Amino acid sequence: MIPVIEARQRILAQMPLMPAEWVSIAEADGRVLAEPAIAQRTQPPADLSAMDGYAVLGADVARPGASLTRVGEAAAGHAHAGVVKPGECVRIFTGAPLPPGTDTILIQEDADVSGDRVTAREAVRTGTYVRRAGLDFRTGETGLEPGRDLNPRDLGLLAAMNVPWVGVRRRPRIALLSTGDELVRPGEALGPNQIVSSNAISLAALVRRAGAEPVDIGIAPDRPEALAEAASRAAGCDMLVTLGGASVGDHDLVQDVLADEGLALDFWRIAMRPGKPLMFGRFGDVRLLGLPGNPVSAVVCGLLFLRPAIRQMLGADDIEPQVRTARLGRDLPENDRREDYLRSKLGIDAEGTATVTPFDRQDSSMLHVLSRAGALAIRAPHAPALAAGSPVSFIPLTGMI
Ligand code: AMP
Ligand code: MG
Repeated sequence: MIPVIEARQRILAQMPLMPAEWVSIAEADGRVLAEPAIAQRTQPPADLSAMDGYAVLGADVARPGASLTRVGEAAAGHAHAGVVKPGECVRIFTGAPLPPGTDTILIQEDADVSGDRVTAREAVRTGTYVRRAGLDFRTGETGLEPGRDLNPRDLGLLAAMNVPWVGVRRRPRIALLSTGDELVRPGEALGPNQIVSSNAISLAALVRRAGAEPVDIGIAPDRPEALAEAASRAAGCDMLVTLGGASVGDHDLVQDVLADEGLALDFWRIAMRPGKPLMFGRFGDVRLLGLPGNPVSAVVCGLLFLRPAIRQMLGADDIEPQVRTARLGRDLPENDRREDYLRSKLGIDAEGTATVTPFDRQDSSMLHVLSRAGALAIRAPHAPALAAGSPVSFIPLTGMI
């Protein structure tokens, strides 16, 4: 059995980086940036008014009561033609370029207007309510760095930078193969000894949230030829994830069958709970990750190994699961030699500190408990007993699984 961290490192070291592809920014939400995004434009392109009012020369309005002559108008998209002289002003609206000769905005709330005479009620500091050219960014500046997961805010920035296409990593295609004679798909006719297959559904969603494309290649019965035939459907994918059949029972065929098909096995057992039987290797060009069949183990191992593998293929800047610290909500006994990931309730105590409280029942078949969990509390191998109130490491689940 190898430690969790070593297993993850060995997986990450084997992951290919996906090639870049160019997509419209309208289609780029959630994609991982592969190339730096460079501003093609200075924003604002010129000094612009930030308010409705009058464009003036700051020196003219240094004292209250200055009286100016209105000589024209400027609106967003419409410049005032001509240079403004001392003693003059131009009616201006938000987003309009400042006419040459002006450097300050007298807001309309502070102006008394009579015909074309404009009187400043207050003194105004030079530069007030002017957005200087390049305030936000300048042509040639890097707006976004590679590795970033593009979000709606980034897309707005890209549009403003006049970058209509961006280089992003191709989404890896992840084949999901469920195994087991007992499995039927959700909603299908169920015999008395059958189980509704949940792993392909939960893992497909996990894969999508990690930024990859899941490909459900079905359920293989526990017969060697059937499994070999089913696994061949992963051709063309970047990775095959088998679900179940990974340990060494008489009906656990994945390792033997895929070995006959040319699997180069790297490792297959990890010192963790849930999910000791976890297999990693290479099957031709396709990386193979064999996840345990127990539904909680499959999802937890998916979070700890499959998601980082996908993030690595995407060249993302967040590969490892983020580990945080909170206050433990209950006493815990000492741990054995397997690293434990306890399904836990995530809360906040009276002082506003995050609390993590492991559920009583930790059976790796209990999806209801997993669904209610907001965190996985981490217990290192051989960790001593831990009293309620002690600091405890955890992985928050929100957004990932
Ligand atoms: P296995 O790893 O194949 O020995 O499966 C371990 C346990 O997980 C057994 O109780 C299986 O019935 C169950 N199991 C395996 N695959 C799935 C699946 N796709 N959905 C739900 N349960 C599963
Ligand atoms: Mg099975």
